[in-house]
Parts: sequence; C-alpha cells; structure tokens
Amino acid sequence: MLNLLAVGSVALDSVKTPFGQVTEVLGGSATYFSTAASYFTRVGLVAVVGEDFPKEHIAFLKSRPIDLEGLEVGRGQTFRWCGEYGYHLNEARTLETHLNVFQKFNPQLPNTYKEAPVVFLANIDPELQLGVLEQTRSPDLVALDTMNFWIDGKRDALLKVLGRVHIVIINEGEARQLVQEVNLVKVAREILKLGPKVLIIKRGEYGALLFTQEAIFSAPAYPLEAVFDPTGAGDSFAGGFMGHLARTKDFSMNNLRQAVIFGSVMASYCVEAFSLERFRNLHPDEVQERYRAFKQLTHFDEM
Ligand code: AMP
Repeated sequence: MLNLLAVGSVALDSVKTPFGQVTEVLGGSATYFSTAASYFTRVGLVAVVGEDFPKEHIAFLKSRPIDLEGLEVGRGQTFRWCGEYGYHLNEARTLETHLNVFQKFNPQLPNTYKEAPVVFLANIDPELQLGVLEQTRSPDLVALDTMNFWIDGKRDALLKVLGRVHIVIINEGEARQLVQEVNLVKVAREILKLGPKVLIIKRGEYGALLFTQEAIFSAPAYPLEAVFDPTGAGDSFAGGFMGHLARTKDFSMNNLRQAVIFGSVMASYCVEAFSLERFRNLHPDEVQERYRAFKQLTHFDEM
C-alpha cells in the first residue's frame, strides 16, 4: 500500500542565480517533493509530463522509491518554469510559466492511490488539487502548498481547497499575500481561520515557523557556506516534513516538530546544488547526520 500520495508539477526549469544558470533541467514541485519524501517512505506521484520529457528524468525518479503509475505522458510539451534569484535568495522572481500539458490535465488516481493515508497537494492549479482530493478515500492527513501565481489567478478554488486540508505549508511572502496582512502572527491567525489546523511558514534562509491555535515552534535553516540554487527548497522541505509524518503515522505536536526539522534537513541539501543534483548522491545516513547537527545547533540548557 502507498503511504503518501502527491500531486504537483513535474517541470523543466530554467534558473538563474548569482552563482550560475541552468536551462531546462529537471524541476517541479512534485518532483522535489517526492524525491525528498522518498528518503522516508514510498510516494505515489500524480502529475503529467509532455512527450518531450527526457527519459533520463523518468529513470532518475524510478531509481527512488517513487511510484510512477500516476504520472501521465500527455500530448504536448512539458510544464516549463523560468525564474531568477538575486543575492537575496529567499524569493524567486518568475520570468515565465508555461503550463503546457497541465492545461488539459484531468488526473485519474490509480486505484492503489485512493486509500493513501497521507496526501500532499504540492504547488499546482488548486482545481487539480481539489480534483485529486475528491478521488481519495478520507485520508488521515492532507497538506497543501501554493504560490502567488495561484493566489492571484485562482483564489476562489484555492480558498475552497484550503477549507479541506489539515496543514498549509507556504512561504512567508505568499502567506502575507494570501490574507493581506504583514505581521506573521496575525497572518497565521487569519490562515488558520480558513480551515487548516496547522500552518507552516517557510522563511528561506531564516528557517520555518509552525503555528497551531495553541503553540508556535520555530526552526532555523541550516547555516550553509555554499548555497547555489534555492529552487525546490520549499518542496524539499515539504517532502521531508510529510515523509516523516507518513512514515511514523504520528501527528502529535512533538512529532510535527521533528517533521519540521526533517523538512529543514532536506531543504538544506536541496540548495547545495542546481536542480535535483544533490539528491543524486545523497545517502540516507547524511539525512540522519544533519538531523543530529540541527539538534546540536538549537540546543540550550535550562537556566
Ligand atoms: P520551490 O520549492 O517553491 O522553490 O518551487 C520550485 C518549483 O516550483 C520549480 O521547480 C518550478 O518548476 C515549480 N513551479 C513554479 N511555478 C509553478 C506553478 N505556477 N505551478 C506549479 N509549479 C510551479
């Protein structure tokens, strides 16, 4: 049985950072998410690629514990995203978005996916997120990510799906944009009113904040000497976070805190290289090793 199901984009990205640039490399919210989550549990991926999608990328995904029965090959071109980052690496500037095959995508969940207990709606058209959610059979945990493109373009559909998820994982700027508020504590209060019980605000190099009605948990980002490409950090965070929850099936506050750290671990590895390159040779022991480094980083004694 599948522990974790994800829908989102599988993309060819062209990215420019102050440290270099790449053209039409493997990317996409669901790609980063499932690769990171596959260090924790088996993931079923729901997405569409075009006929032009390179076979070597399929081979890479197959080399991980990722089930590809839900990955369709549609007629037309693969989704493409083009973005750049300045020296302030926290926010991408989107230069181009070509939805291509996603425009006509009508996801049909394979039967084995419908019972997945944990579902992640990665950044994609909220109508597709809803379409997938409606085919599942009362999952125990559903989380969602989104971005400015959909907050601006599909707000009503987004609010509808927000009302049906347990957890929202969103970056700082987009959280502010969603509820038109600057102060993050107030932002959290407003987003939690929309339905979810847990909100995670990703703050790039400043880490992540977890909010519930009762509590706040704060995790730093791992202080790295070399950051090459922040693309996918948010999705890799979500992959580590959800992967840990799907593996342990424990949704208590204590375990949510651990999940935030595993998310931060996966995001920290992601940004060390362009595209998904760092994951090609990332060993599971390194995941554990950095988790321990996080504990060391944030430990202090009581007075
Ligand atoms: P992040 O983890 O937030 O850096 O997400 C980066 C990924 O999001 C890139 O690999 C893009 O292909 C993907 N992406 C960018 N714009 C969109 C969009 N409008 N819908 C879905 N995926 C997107």
